[in-house]
Amino acid sequence: MKQFAVIGLGRFGSSVATTLARMGYDVLAVDTDEQKVERIVDRVTHAVQADALDDESLKALGMRNFDVVIVAIGHDMQASILTTVMLKEMGVRTVVAKANTELHGRVLARVGADKVVFPERDMGVRVARSLVSKNLLDHIDLSPDFSIVELVTPKDFVGKSLLEAGVRGRYGVNILAIRRGTEVLIAPGAKEVIREGDVLVAIGRNERLEKLGGD
Ligand code: ADP
Repeated sequence: MKQFAVIGLGRFGSSVATTLARMGYDVLAVDTDEQKVERIVDRVTHAVQADALDDESLKALGMRNFDVVIVAIGHDMQASILTTVMLKEMGVRTVVAKANTELHGRVLARVGADKVVFPERDMGVRVARSLVSKNLLDHIDLSPDFSIVELVTPKDFVGKSLLEAGVRGRYGVNILAIRRGTEVLIAPGAKEVIREGDVLVAIGRNERLEKLGGD
């Protein structure tokens, strides 16, 4: 079972920590702010008040033994960068760090963060996409030009097969799967008839997918 530590319990860090704990993982939550620690103590495995910039406390918490440490220090960019450096120096295998700006993200990657996340930027992109394309549920970028999207079946597809709806012919998009209630049809054939409420998982060029999602 993987063990996680989350440093910084702002909105992002506390959400990551409590979600992992709810999924059944061991989570150590750390913040300098005692109130933040108290607020989360019942919802994670351990919550400790400590300053990540204090090398000794980090070592005493046994950071090295965690599989993944998430640096969720938001506004204090210097603390976020220094903490990332120290964790990597201590030999933490995987450090995931939250960046506030592109530059901050580049620095985090340079100093050894294994993964850099931009929660505000990414959420902004998701919200914007879902506003433009009314049926869109989720979007995964494969490259600048291609994506996989999850979308609610457009109304005029209902009762038609994939072939009749022209998903490939008209939209140039391939359906990887159809989610129907609790059932998932993987690689559906062209004759599969689309039902109301079906969720389509589609792969293709972005502009084609946008057309499909916008209809
Ligand atoms: P968010 O935007 O996700 O809410 P914040 O910047 O508000 O992020 O929160 C970051 C958290 O990180 C705060 O609770 C702050 O107390 C904590 N923090 C800042 N510096 C340190 C540090 N050196 N060690 C541990 N926690 C820290």
